[in-house]
Amino acid sequence: MRFKYFLPTKVFFGDNSLIQNKAVLKTLGRKALIVTGRRSAKMNGSFDDITKALSDLDMDYIVFDQVEENPSLETIEKASDMAKGNNVDFVIGVGGGSPMDAAKAIAIFIKNPKVNSENIFDGQVLDHIPVVAIPTTAGTGSEATPYSIVTSNKEKNKKNLGQVVFPSFTFIDSKYTQNLPYDITVSTSVDAFTHLVEGYLNNNANIMSDIYGEKGFELFRECFKNLIDKDLDEKFRDNVIFASYLGGIQIAQTGTSLPHGMGYPLTYFKGIPHGLANGVLTIEYLKIFKDKERIYRMLNLLGMSSLEELETILRKLIKLRISITEEEINNYAKDFYTNKEKLKNHTEDVNLEDIIKIYKNSLL
Ligand code: NAP
Ligand code: FE
Repeated sequence: MRFKYFLPTKVFFGDNSLIQNKAVLKTLGRKALIVTGRRSAKMNGSFDDITKALSDLDMDYIVFDQVEENPSLETIEKASDMAKGNNVDFVIGVGGGSPMDAAKAIAIFIKNPKVNSENIFDGQVLDHIPVVAIPTTAGTGSEATPYSIVTSNKEKNKKNLGQVVFPSFTFIDSKYTQNLPYDITVSTSVDAFTHLVEGYLNNNANIMSDIYGEKGFELFRECFKNLIDKDLDEKFRDNVIFASYLGGIQIAQTGTSLPHGMGYPLTYFKGIPHGLANGVLTIEYLKIFKDKERIYRMLNLLGMSSLEELETILRKLIKLRISITEEEINNYAKDFYTNKEKLKNHTEDVNLEDIIKIYKNSLL
């Protein structure tokens, strides 16, 4: 047996976990930059909780509340410029993956004043000020991963920043997700599911990462039923945010695989939400595996007896009309095929034709 395993983020999970454990924030300094999206944090209780916690602790904060979905390097630069003259000791990302990932990138930019959107991909290893993550969607697992996925308008795609930023603390409280609309619940849940799948069918998978993946599949056995029935009660919210956290731990060890890398242009060029962009490719991706043994193990844990059963569920949840041409598909496929990071995680040989086939069979 052989494995590598790293999980440096201290997690506080459950009802009221932020207010009850707020004292740990003191260990990170005196002043925070709170990073959120434009609206939802102020409506779901997370912003009130974090500002109350900081005020109770007599700590200072400033707020950047302009993070868009799929955060751009321009927005990240704007937020870090705002923070730089303000003696900020740490960054708190509150929201879905977009504000949490933006918070990680901002923490790098603040620590390294010479870094900007032009030179961030130059390959240097960069330190960061501490980050706290408070998820309000149940999907990305960013609270447990070192990744920050950003939009590069220069490269016309989304990409991993390529640095390692594990949050110091995460507070996971499913009550922040209680009023998440059905469509965002579906797309983010599907994202969590695809992390579990791509982390499980991965060259870097090992006995430790599998533990998280397999528990995640067990949880999805119920979560899929809730999603299909639109029965989004507290138990479901707890289960799916836990499954999402498990998927985060898992991909922190393994990375993601083909659907994630192939989904990025669907989000960039076609505006498809991240989870659906991966999810719509997942069945065709599963079909190209020659060795289906692990897929059957996964299906078994999901309580399913065939890939068709999973396909039926995903088709019910992912209803997309994408207007796309063969030429666009060929371009995305060629571009993706240069992404060695994702290709090397796939456990079997794939060629460009396979990639084109996954896109075509999923989208045309
Ligand atoms: P998101 O882009 O963060 O948010 C999507 C939408 O949901 C926004 O309109 C947001 O509104 C709203 N929202 C968030 N929480 C809400 C709540 N509790 N109630 C109502 N609305 C709420 O979505 P996401 O899917 O969580 O994150 C996607 C991003 O994460 C992508 O950029 C993806 O590439 C990245 N990602 C990162 C990792 C990683 O390991 N770092 C893994 C997978 C995906 P507001 O804008 O008003 O807040
Ligand atoms: Fe994802």
